[in-house]
Amino acid sequence: MKNVVVIGAGIAGLATAIRLQCAGYQVQVYEANASPGGKLSELQIGRYRFDAGPSLFTMPQYIEELFAISGKPIYEYFSYKRKEIVCEYFFDDLTRFTAFGNLEAYCKEAEKAFGIAPATLKKYFANSQMKFDRTRSLFLENSLHKLTTYLNKETLQALASLSSLSLFSTLHTFNTAKLNNQYLVQLFDRYATYNGSSPFQTPAIMSMIPHLEQHFGTYVPKGGMISITNSLYQLALDVGVQFNFNTKVSQISIANKVADGIVVDERKIPADIVVSNMDIMPTYRYLMPSQKAPEKILSQERSSSAIIFYWGIRHSFEQLNLHNIFFSKDYQAEFASIFSSQTVADDITVYVNISSKDELADAPEGCENWFVMVNAPANVGQDWDEIIQRTRKNILSKLSKQLQTNLEDFIECEAILDPRSIEAKTQSAQGALYGSASNNRYAAFLRHPNFSRKIKNLYFCGGSVHPGGGIPLCLLSAKITAALITKASV
Ligand code: FAD
Repeated sequence: MKNVVVIGAGIAGLATAIRLQCAGYQVQVYEANASPGGKLSELQIGRYRFDAGPSLFTMPQYIEELFAISGKPIYEYFSYKRKEIVCEYFFDDLTRFTAFGNLEAYCKEAEKAFGIAPATLKKYFANSQMKFDRTRSLFLENSLHKLTTYLNKETLQALASLSSLSLFSTLHTFNTAKLNNQYLVQLFDRYATYNGSSPFQTPAIMSMIPHLEQHFGTYVPKGGMISITNSLYQLALDVGVQFNFNTKVSQISIANKVADGIVVDERKIPADIVVSNMDIMPTYRYLMPSQKAPEKILSQERSSSAIIFYWGIRHSFEQLNLHNIFFSKDYQAEFASIFSSQTVADDITVYVNISSKDELADAPEGCENWFVMVNAPANVGQDWDEIIQRTRKNILSKLSKQLQTNLEDFIECEAILDPRSIEAKTQSAQGALYGSASNNRYAAFLRHPNFSRKIKNLYFCGGSVHPGGGIPLCLLSAKITAALITKASV
């Protein structure tokens, strides 16, 4: 039996470990932290529990798949339900919009709020679906860096329809042309942030993302987002994966251009195959500094990071949903701040996520656990303490105006996460949430492959490599990586 070492127990590391163990390998995971999950973790402050990172759960089929291949019944580990309301939107001029999960209800509500004809929105979503259907095989489900990918029928169809994929205009230009409504353009532009990019730079092919949300749905896992991590960790244990926590890998051992193990505490641990779930930048810089790094790939602009305030709120706000977005007035300036000036604008879009009322353990009765996030630039040594204080003040004033209250009076406890602490906690270079940004049309091709071209038996999974960041894509990276390994072993 071949043995595999996985460096990191992030969501992609867990999924890769499960897939390979089920395929007949013996897998050992080495994780620097005391627990699994990486960015998908939780924190407890006094009487409040918070999901620390992701809050939006889409494409549950990729989780279902892991249980299916393991032959374990998912209901014993993990359950989730579809949300009827995807998000509550608050615009700066106090316009509000409830985004329903059901397309008919969504279009009806948009007609009421913005006067847009349902047919216009349905046409937008149909175009979004066409882009997804034509590109999923090439950009999401296979290695972009293997010839075989280009020889399958779906890829050839995608290549033949390149002109319909809007690769040559930006998401903002596309949305303006198709929607011609300032509120909806802002709303549909926000999907660029799903991979940490700017709508004014990212190509319009990203307009496929609304289809994923609207068609496949958005979900709430029972027990919170942390139950994704916990259930996959338990599944990994049950299929026989072995874990080593509080164990930071310091080197990938390479002999004659073949990865043959890792080094932990100056001790070599031999392996037939090494998979790094660590961000690709520190994987090269710290774990194999003597190897020639792919500088063009590593020099890509980083995706955005975030500042998050975790607030225990001594009140229950009836007008809020589980996911709420308070838009800024001038979001072009907001994105220019993040990607050009490397700071956070005073007027900024604020995301407020709250646990479902079913999660009784997450907040005391009559209280709410608020996850309050703004997008922020990757860390280049800014004065974060100043930015955090200023941003906190701006958020409080923005939300207090919208909710017609003095929000600060209700904050019972607080913790803060910023690009520095995201990097310290997960080793993600500069605290970027999604590896590199997709701020140019070649971005997909400039993500690192899931394998090393120069070193045999070395593979990569996770948000900083192909196909990209976010839970669904990380789970797909695990699928692609595991398939490459099993194919190479045949
Ligand atoms: P990571 O989570 O980056 O974990 C890597 C692991 O490797 C860590 O546990 C780390 O400790 C370990 N490691 C690193 N180096 C070493 C070493 N040398 N030795 C041993 N272990 C090591 N995604 C969504 O889909 N929806 C959202 O709503 C969403 N919102 C987000 C909000 C925030 C605040 C954050 C931070 C992220 C968000 N994301 C969201 C992105 C999503 O969380 C990530 O894309 C995904 O979790 C990354 O998983 P990963 O497998 O790449 O590993």
